[in-house]
Amino acid sequence: MLSFPQLLELRITARQVALNFHAFRLARRTLCSDAGVKLPGADSAQEVADKHGHHSNIPIHDVAIVGGGMVGMALACSLARMPLTNQLNVAIIDSNPALLNGDCIQKEDPPDPRVSTVTPATIDLFKDVGAWRYVEQHRHAYFDKMQVWDYTGFGYTRYNARDINKEILGCVVENKVLHRSLLSCLQNTSFQQKIYPSRLSSMTIHSRSASSPHGSLAKLELSDGNSLYAKLVVGADGSKSRVKELAGINSTGWKYSQNAIICTVEHMEENHCAWQCFLPNGPIALLPIGDNFSNIVWTMTPEESLNRKSMSEVDFVREIDRALDNGYGPHPNSQLFGGRAAFSWLTGDTTVSTNECFEVPPRVTKVASERMVFPLSLNHATSYALKRVVLIGDAAHTVHPLAGQGVNMGFGDAFSLAKVIAEGIAVGSDIGEVSLLRGYESDRRPANLTMMAILDGFQKAYSVDFRPLNVLRAAAFQGAHYIAPLKRQIISYASGEQRFPLFS
Ligand SMILES: Cc1cc2nc3c(=O)[nH]c(=O)nc-3n(C[C@H](O)[C@H](O)[C@H](O)COP(=O)(O)OP(=O)(O)OC[C@H]3O[C@@H](n4cnc5c(N)ncnc54)[C@H](O)[C@@H]3O)c2cc1C
Repeated sequence: MLSFPQLLELRITARQVALNFHAFRLARRTLCSDAGVKLPGADSAQEVADKHGHHSNIPIHDVAIVGGGMVGMALACSLARMPLTNQLNVAIIDSNPALLNGDCIQKEDPPDPRVSTVTPATIDLFKDVGAWRYVEQHRHAYFDKMQVWDYTGFGYTRYNARDINKEILGCVVENKVLHRSLLSCLQNTSFQQKIYPSRLSSMTIHSRSASSPHGSLAKLELSDGNSLYAKLVVGADGSKSRVKELAGINSTGWKYSQNAIICTVEHMEENHCAWQCFLPNGPIALLPIGDNFSNIVWTMTPEESLNRKSMSEVDFVREIDRALDNGYGPHPNSQLFGGRAAFSWLTGDTTVSTNECFEVPPRVTKVASERMVFPLSLNHATSYALKRVVLIGDAAHTVHPLAGQGVNMGFGDAFSLAKVIAEGIAVGSDIGEVSLLRGYESDRRPANLTMMAILDGFQKAYSVDFRPLNVLRAAAFQGAHYIAPLKRQIISYASGEQRFPLFS
């Protein structure tokens, strides 16, 4: 029987065949109309001149990271911190002004609505490169409890860090703090990095030729007219990756007919728990972000999101409180399906949280930021690595935010790629060689695919409001609450500590 990730891969492949045909027709048109997009071998007079050394003033870098977002910066930091890679000459290409002016972040400022839940595994990676110290000096909120429930009142699950003998389940941090922590960590090294405040417009991979001084390098042309060569180009340029497009790497997936609305909210007391309720049109999460603030990530239909973005603050607060309390159904009852007794025959084992009752989240009193809306989709590149080109982060995969895993997957990519580059240097290999880069792909692709399958499965299971399915989902919630070994596996997997045994 096919496993869940294999089924997802199969669905993706079927779409791929259709998309490839469409992309082939599109590419033929693009090549005729877009002078910026070039194929290897399709040399212009300018490129022939380059090959003969007429432009030897063009800088050459070992690695060009296109996209200095959180994931691109994590790669740069990781390269800067490892003895085998800290001699590399790295270019970071991004027009984001935060890379140059390094805004000072004040802890007293109200929290930005763009936050990420980072897993203990990510925290360890940040500690390894020395970036976590910065996060700890700024706004962040560790949480040690999590409660997930279903609006029907049929089921709930509580998780406690002590279920797996840990102190925390994760930490919520503003994206700008994570980004800045990596940037400041990079600035405190003697690493040779050059920031190009521009955007990638075109890319050419030269094939090796005896007459070319830059044989077999990638040439990048930027929107400000600058050019550079690199042995390895890393596409860390997000879900609409130009690197992926220029390298001709296809990706496939689907748009969810859902948007997420996010904002910062205030309540009367401090929150130390991550709350998530599955409503008929998508989950709403209330995530602690320090002091009396929390972050809302609420998934809903596109129409609802536009309506809720524009409604008055009073109405919006009322809607949030209704959604997080019993506005859509009764509070879950722990005795449904026989409660603990019904599952105790499976194992005699219990966890700390097994005896914790359902709690109502803190009441929201105020919206403390703008409301932002994001369309949601699943996207996966069919390949992460070609000769001289590799993809990381959202450029390689985009997922539904319902479990807060997207950037954690990207950080996993960045640190894995840095390790593979170091291994290549250790054995004297060309760091742009595809056989080396495939090592990174085979480390990350199965892990990412498994996570994508689980998140997509959740999204699908919760996009149908059908009573027998609702009962089944609730039974699953109760199982996850009372079956201790299953509960520990779920927590360890979501923490990024281990691969999910059912899928590996
Ligand atoms: C509502 C919402 C909530 C989320 N919550 C979480 C969460 O709690 N936990 C979690 O793990 N993940 C979460 N995610 C996912 C997370 O935000 C993304 O996975 C993450 O931002 C991806 O980082 P990245 O660096 O790969 O890409 P991006 O953040 O998209 O950065 C890409 C960078 O590339 C630059 N760029 C783009 N094009 C070019 C070009 N042509 N040339 C040069 N530079 C270019 C951009 O300026 C940008 O700086 C959430 C996502 C959403 C939408």
